[in-house]
Amino acid sequence: MSAKPDAFDAALQRARVHSMEWLASIPTRPVGPAVQADDLLAGFAAPLPEQPTDPAAVIDELARLAEPGLMAMPSGRFFGWVIGGTLPAALAADWLVSAWDQNAGMRFATPAVAAAEEAAAGWLLDLLHLPSGSDVGFTTGGTTANFVGLASGRQAVLDRLGWDLAGQGLSGAPRIRVFVGAERHAVIDLVLRYLGLGAPVVVDADEQGRILPDALAAAMDAGETPAGPAIVCLQAGNLHSGAFDPMAQAITVAHERGAWVHVDGAFGLWAAASPRFREALAGLELADSWATDAHKTLNVPYDCGMAIVTRPEVVRAAFGVHTAYLMTDTSGPGDQFDKVPELSRRARGVTVWAALRSLGRAGTVDLVERLADRAAELAEGISRIPGAEVLNDVVFTQVSVSFGDDERTRRVTAALLDGGVAWMSGSRWHGRDVLRISVSNWSTDADDVALSLAALEQAVASVDAIELS
Ligand SMILES: *Cc1c(COP(=O)(O)O)cnc(C)c1O
Repeated sequence: MSAKPDAFDAALQRARVHSMEWLASIPTRPVGPAVQADDLLAGFAAPLPEQPTDPAAVIDELARLAEPGLMAMPSGRFFGWVIGGTLPAALAADWLVSAWDQNAGMRFATPAVAAAEEAAAGWLLDLLHLPSGSDVGFTTGGTTANFVGLASGRQAVLDRLGWDLAGQGLSGAPRIRVFVGAERHAVIDLVLRYLGLGAPVVVDADEQGRILPDALAAAMDAGETPAGPAIVCLQAGNLHSGAFDPMAQAITVAHERGAWVHVDGAFGLWAAASPRFREALAGLELADSWATDAHKTLNVPYDCGMAIVTRPEVVRAAFGVHTAYLMTDTSGPGDQFDKVPELSRRARGVTVWAALRSLGRAGTVDLVERLADRAAELAEGISRIPGAEVLNDVVFTQVSVSFGDDERTRRVTAALLDGGVAWMSGSRWHGRDVLRISVSNWSTDADDVALSLAALEQAVASVDAIELS
């Protein structure tokens, strides 16, 4: 059957009703899910029916089966991992992207979504003060955006030595050394495995997790003379402290030694939109590539990352489906499928266009600053809870808290999650168990902060009551 409009109507209407019911439940429902996946499997995994089912009935059943197992990640009191919410314009745009069903790799085939993504890319470079003319690839997330940036680095440092990576592969190639800070995100190591680059050289970081430029210089100068090809991976936004690596100093050290510099800014790159963070990020624009997520700080739906590379000819040599890019003019915007690992792809960048279009420049700056303000308010409130200790300098959206020894911190975390009012992650930092807060949702307001602090006080009180009894 071809796509007859009426065939969609009832199912889409039901999807809208269930979406609104879900969103309406968020302010009052417990943040955590009521059941676990194993409890839901029986419902979902009934024998596959022999005969078709009406699409609207399928949507009703899906919503009913899923309801008890949904985590209220869109809640203003969800502070787990680094999980943004979704702005209304971005969510609605995402629905349209599905309805349009464009395979968004090629400009000529899907001009509307190509133009929207290219416009969003331009706004992004402008907002974050990154070099205009950089290539922006819309990826599935931060992991793949880091993959694109680091693959571009691999391409560039081998190109410079005249090594034909596409023809010869890595076997027999000059060994590339990759330098990372001690507190890089775990996916950086994963990406280096994808790229066949092996384990990185780990450089010491300070107490906030920022790479030490002197230690970077010493590590790069150790070993081979003359030094072989190198990549340095920096971080804008530490998971536990929110801290930014000292960009200007570290990039200077790296560039003086001929390295490609990539910055993992999955959530923290957005700080560059605000003048408040300009000093902390000074020199950011000097790097060669950057990775960020739109599904974190910018609050578009999953999944959407962005890989920004200063040299289009390099990223297109690494990812181009068209051949021989090194001899081709790369001055134009180019096709998305030449900038990301996927061939067929969702027009995910359209949600970025919608988010930025709805926020405007001032709204984007305000979004970033509000997240940081709410984090500072939470930290301030927590520091007044007896026995609680905020372990990091709260410079952005992340707060790491200890409630004494590891056991007590774990108990407070568990009691908080049981209460259902707010959700925060347990983690480990500098050898200690911590409760980690990430303020990443545009909707988190003063009431959410007050309710979450009260819930945390309650959790501490309940743990103390058990210890006394
Ligand atoms: C989330 C995150 C990643 C991974 O991004 P995904 O979108 O989850 O793939 C990488 N680095 C940092 C600093 C992150 O916060």
